[in-house]
Formats: sequence, C-alpha cells, structure tokens
Amino acid sequence: KVKKLKGEGIQTCNDELKAEVVNEQRLIAGLRESIKQHQLFIVYQPIVDSKTREVWGVEALVRWQFQTELVRPDHFIPLAEKSGFILELGLWVLQQACTEFLLLEDCQNKHLSVNVSALQMQTESFFTHVQSVLETTGFDPHKLHLEITESALMTDDQQVLDSVMSLKAMGISLSIDDFGTGYSNLSQLTVLPANILKIDKSFVDASAKERDVILRAASLIASELKFLTVAEGVETEAQVNELTLRGIDLLQGYYFAKPMNLGKLSQWLKQQAN
Ligand code: C2E
Ligand code: MG
Ligand code: MG
Ligand code: MG
Repeated sequence: KVKKLKGEGIQTCNDELKAEVVNEQRLIAGLRESIKQHQLFIVYQPIVDSKTREVWGVEALVRWQFQTELVRPDHFIPLAEKSGFILELGLWVLQQACTEFLLLEDCQNKHLSVNVSALQMQTESFFTHVQSVLETTGFDPHKLHLEITESALMTDDQQVLDSVMSLKAMGISLSIDDFGTGYSNLSQLTVLPANILKIDKSFVDASAKERDVILRAASLIASELKFLTVAEGVETEAQVNELTLRGIDLLQGYYFAKPMNLGKLSQWLKQQAN
C-alpha cells in the first residue's frame, strides 16, 4: 500500500500536464476577448530621481482581471506572445497609457515608460503603429520611453534595428529592461540607440559582492554611453542610500510606491507636490 506503483506516478504526471494545457488554452481564449470585455487595465509605478527625490516619471504595467482572477503579467504576457495576441495587446497598452497619462494634471514634465515585447519590435508595422498613437493622442515623443529587454535588443534582426532607428529619429527613447539578466554583448550596447539602463531587481537584492560588480559595470557603461541608470525593485531605505551613493540616477520600487491606477497616481502625485 505504501509503495507507489510505477505507472501511477506517470499517470498523475500526464494528468497534470493535460490540466496545464487545458488551463493555458482557457487563458489564451480569454485573452483574445480581454480587450473587448474591458478586462485589461493599466497601473503606473513612479520612478524617482535619486538625488532630488522628485518624480521623474512612471512605468505603465498592464493588468488582466479575468473572471475572478487577477492574472499576473509574468503569466499572461508569455501566453500572449505564444498566441500572437501580444501585437494587439501591446498596441492597446500604448494607446491606453498615452491617453490616460495626458489626463493627469501634473504630467507636463514627466516621462512615461511602456514595456514592449520583442515580437512587437520584430513586426514591420510597429513603427507606424507607434507613430499613429502619438498622432492620435498628441503625446510628446520626447516624453515616451519604450522598455525592451536586453535579450530582445541583442539581435541582428534588421527589422528590429530599423524599428529602433526610426523610433529614435522620432525622439522616442529606449530603455534596456532587466539589465544584467540577459547576455549583453557590450560592443552591441555601444551601437544601440538606447538612453536608459534598468538594473534588474535581482541585482538590487543580490549579495554585496554581486551588487558591487553589476553596479560598477552599469555605472561605467552609463557614463561612457551617456545613459541614465534606473534601479528596479527598491524596497528599503538602505537600498535607496546605497544606490544613490553609487550614482544610480533613478529609483523605482515599493519603497516609493507600488503600481497604482490612474486615480491613485493622480492623488499620489499631488501629495508629492505638497
Ligand atoms: P518589468 O518591466 O521588469 O517590471 C517590473 C516589475 O517589478 C513589475 O511587475 C513591478 O510591479 C515589479 N516591482 C516594482 N517594484 C517592486 C518592488 O519593490 N518589489 C517587488 N517585489 N516587485 C516590484 P509586474 O507588474 O508584475 O510585471 C512583470 C513583468 O511583466 C514586467 O517586468 C514586464 O516584463 C512584463 N509586463 C508588464 N506589463 C507589460 C506590458 O504592457 N507589455 C509587455 N510586453 N510586458 C509587460
Ligand atoms: Mg519594464
Ligand atoms: Mg524590469
Ligand atoms: Mg522584469
């Protein structure tokens, strides 16, 4: 009785796998309806100047309320990529974030940063889509930043490089997201028209030694290439102090504020101004 039969384990495994596939299909089908059903919304997380503590801007982060579940983007973005829905989703996020952001009273000199998937960048129509969002919303391209993971940028895909150049020419900046987690080819970094390096939270949390290595590397690259540096996932005052001392320009994390909807953000910005 105690001993498990060999076959049983395999059976359970298969069942689990099947359940996972079914759940994935359920989510993908749900995602396709999410825009029409008004289940997607955006939350904004402030990004703060380390020296002055003034608000530099916000990062837009998408949320999906599917029936009773709030599905995490780490979970549904990969599914959106797998199913191709990411193109529609990405465009919706950009349009929505630019529109909402302009409704803020205090948005004038603040920046908006929006995450973009590698698959979007690989699409020929990406640039014209961005252009039309800017035209229809009247958003200032110099205030818009697109966040792309370093692995997505470390490519020889001509389509991606063309998109990047066209965006840049229009005045839009690029941020390298999750810096340190990919395989940055340093020589390629020098030719990329990016302006911001976002140091991944895993390094903010790493051991003192690891942190030292990545912070030194990031600062060196940033000063050579005239990039700004952002540290993500800053949760404690000790981290704020260290990162500021180390010359990190901008800070983002729960220490300052969690991502919030537009109404909350508007209140939060007013409080900061007082
Ligand atoms: P990311 O772009 O690196 O965003 C940072 C993530 O860290 C966000 O998770 C944010 O809520 C979380 N975070 C910020 N500060 C703290 C902190 O102090 N502590 C902790 N524990 N977490 C913190 P979120 O919103 O769940 O998003 C996860 C990832 O999903 C994002 O990572 C991004 O890669 C992706 N994502 C989110 N929205 C979009 C989108 O509109 N389009 C695309 N393509 N990807 C998106
Ligand atoms: Mg990001
Ligand atoms: Mg990141
Ligand atoms: Mg991330």
